[in-house]
Amino acid sequence: MMGNELQGDFIKFLGTGGARVVVSRQVRASAGAWLRLSGVNLYLDPGPGALVKCWKSRPPLNPSLLDGIIITHRHLDHAGDLNALTEAMTEAGFKKRGSVFLPSDALGEEPVLFRYLRPLVERLEVLEAGKSYKVKNLVFTTPVRHLHAVETYGLLLPLPWGRIAWIADTLYFPELIDYYRSDLLILNVPLLEPRAPGKIQHLFLADARVLIREIRPKVAVLTHFGMTMLRARPWVLAERLSDETGVRVLAAQDGMTLSLPELLQ
Ligand SMILES: [Zn+2]
Repeated sequence: MMGNELQGDFIKFLGTGGARVVVSRQVRASAGAWLRLSGVNLYLDPGPGALVKCWKSRPPLNPSLLDGIIITHRHLDHAGDLNALTEAMTEAGFKKRGSVFLPSDALGEEPVLFRYLRPLVERLEVLEAGKSYKVKNLVFTTPVRHLHAVETYGLLLPLPWGRIAWIADTLYFPELIDYYRSDLLILNVPLLEPRAPGKIQHLFLADARVLIREIRPKVAVLTHFGMTMLRARPWVLAERLSDETGVRVLAAQDGMTLSLPELLQ
């Protein structure tokens, strides 16, 4: 069987695109990421294409190995494939297994998870600010509610070898620095420059610079790129950020795998 054995810890970016234009045109894939940490398999933000990207990945990633799916917020580019992936996690609905974590408004008036799928998962958990969640022997925290159009959280994952922080979509606010102190810092940076200030609630490149400089992780990774970032070539921007901050900064690419904790050594 393909994709039935995974070894070592890693973060694999199955998609590194963000925002509407990039997602609609699939300039970059919008599939989110597979995290295997302390042997626990989690899927973060399965946007459109996530299920296909799992199976087309080399080697294939079998979604029935997932222990959980986390949705940082209900926007399409983060939750578009949640139903497809949930059904795949439960072995096409034949086995009650796995967890789904999502903010309360993702189950609200216009839910992003079909009702018929909910009894198929072992655990459906609503994310809240300041709370920690345990999946097998892995713990993650959603430290603070972000400033975004809908209820949104980032992740903090304390591991035996260090901390991982993933800052999902948000407008910059200075408290992010203390909430996301980490050794590996992953940032969703859709925008090169601020546009329509106050209206588009996203990080832009200068925000990423401040966060990296202040948090000083061992490695920082930029992802979730919109058109303005892609036109400016993220790998060039990442190299410039490395020079400016003294921190090793990488630009994620579709299919890129971070082997952990080797990356930080
Ligand atoms: Zn969003």
